[in-house]
Amino acid sequence: MLTNRQLHCLKGIGIRHWPRSHAVVETAREPLASEPVAADPAPAKGAKPLKPEAKEVRPLKSGEDESISGSETGLPPKLSLETWDEINQSIQQCTACELARNCSQKVPGSGNRQADLMIIGEGPGHDEDIQGEPFVGRSGQLLDKMLSAIGLDRDQVFITNIVKCRPPNNRDPKQQEAQQCRVFLDAQIRQIKPRVILSVGRVSAQSLLETKQPVGKLLEQVHQLPGADIPLKVTYHPAYLLRTPSAKAIVWQDLKRLHQILNR
Ligand code: URA
Repeated sequence: MLTNRQLHCLKGIGIRHWPRSHAVVETAREPLASEPVAADPAPAKGAKPLKPEAKEVRPLKSGEDESISGSETGLPPKLSLETWDEINQSIQQCTACELARNCSQKVPGSGNRQADLMIIGEGPGHDEDIQGEPFVGRSGQLLDKMLSAIGLDRDQVFITNIVKCRPPNNRDPKQQEAQQCRVFLDAQIRQIKPRVILSVGRVSAQSLLETKQPVGKLLEQVHQLPGADIPLKVTYHPAYLLRTPSAKAIVWQDLKRLHQILNR
């Protein structure tokens, strides 16, 4: 049974809730960019406080050292990635790929550094490149509404991307770019030790799970981040939802599963 607030949030992301007995296909509408984000940031009833015990985190891959030496790679020389300052500084100094050399500014990620939930998207877009924050454009507004539907707001989660610099013309990040940037994402995951990761969209899911399977397949089960004891849920990217509102019903199922993991 959903609370009035949750029903309101669902309406905000364009999902009409039907009780279980109604086997009806959703005809969700696309939300307007101008629609207000739900005002009440209070966690859903029964939601556990954030941050439980520490978890095991992905070990470093062979050849991957927390203190990376990068004169040939474009990575900052001998910069340790053991603290947030070091991680953010090394992202700012990185010139490892074409993206780093062409973006307006780096978008390392933002939010709660002790979050239970870490959200990983693909890469900054135009708005993010200008503001230096992840998911601040139309997709971000929809992401906020998705979070709100399970009683969370931005301050409670950490949001970042596979690559920290905007790919030109919004192209997909290349595999090599994603791999070069991975050292920063892994360092962020090691710091946060999230209880669960929400991977949004094909680029993020395929990169994190090292697969070519489509999102529609990957979202059928809860995965583990390879090499780490962290559950990973895949769902559609909010940008895809803006184009394909009928997928919102599936995303709602994913969000409910995510909520269950966070509360177990
Ligand atoms: N899309 C993403 O994947 N990430 C952002 O930060 C913004 C849009």
